[in-house]
Amino acid sequence: MDRPDDEKKNRLFQSSAPIDRFFYSLETGGMFRSCTRCSQSLMAGDEKSGSYLIYKIYGVNDLSAEFAICHECVEEAMGMLSEESRQSLQRFFEERSIMDYLFSRMSACMTSGFQLSEAIDSCFVCSSSLQRPGTCHTVVSKCSGTTMDCMPYPMSLCDKCEEDLNQRLSQKTRDEWDRFFESLFIDPRPGAANAPPFKSPPIFV
Ligand SMILES: [Zn+2]
Ligand SMILES: [Zn+2]
Repeated sequence: MDRPDDEKKNRLFQSSAPIDRFFYSLETGGMFRSCTRCSQSLMAGDEKSGSYLIYKIYGVNDLSAEFAICHECVEEAMGMLSEESRQSLQRFFEERSIMDYLFSRMSACMTSGFQLSEAIDSCFVCSSSLQRPGTCHTVVSKCSGTTMDCMPYPMSLCDKCEEDLNQRLSQKTRDEWDRFFESLFIDPRPGAANAPPFKSPPIFV
């Protein structure tokens, strides 16, 4: 039987949690159950083969897009990046002390347990605080079945940092990435006349 101390330790080193309602689909009010791109079920997966990413893209006024992408589709998207693009991305994050960010998240997590707001209310690259609505940014979480990872996802990236990051990548890479994600919206969305134009997620998975 676990002693209370062990229990406390286990809680503080929590690596996953039930998916927070924040990452539920606004459209259905429930969890994302299938990949928005290929329709594969997201509910049967184990940690290795079944992880998936949930994106929430915020415009100035509101949530402008949300979707969930299965492991295979993420792999396919990443496969489009050239070696040069991968190195550029790696350099971008090294230059911005992402490890410092991760250490501070980790120590906050060990002190007070996992807090979603600490993970997503500021940009993980520049630390600026994000308003919802108010600031254009993207929030990403990594999930398996009905649980979500607590480290390093979920995380948020502000539009300014996304722009900086995009500057590092070739136009060809950015065009391919946009085309890949545009395919998520083949049919006109409900209320599409007033919907903001579709925007691809940032390239940082
Ligand atoms: Zn898929
Ligand atoms: Zn930023």
